[in-house]
Amino acid sequence: MANKGTCKAEGCSREAVAKHYCRKHYRLWKRDEMPKARYKTCTAENCRKPRFKGSLCEQHWTVAHGKGEAAGGAPEAAQGS
Ligand SMILES: [Zn+2]
Ligand SMILES: [Zn+2]
Repeated sequence: MANKGTCKAEGCSREAVAKHYCRKHYRLWKRDEMPKARYKTCTAENCRKPRFKGSLCEQHWTVAHGKGEAAGGAPEAAQGS
């Protein structure tokens, strides 16, 4: 029997059967009920992108900081004749 080690879920020391989870936690994982703490995600609603700065992803951070649109337009100093 190959020893796969123990479940990686916190506080669980059962024998791992798949994905480093025990039977019980593997089932949860398959149902997407295990917390995936690979990276923190953006706090904006319905956004699951990884964080870029602070608690926002790059897209939302850019919007929040008003850098979405380039404030173009040269100063109108050349008017008049
Ligand atoms: Zn477990
Ligand atoms: Zn976002």
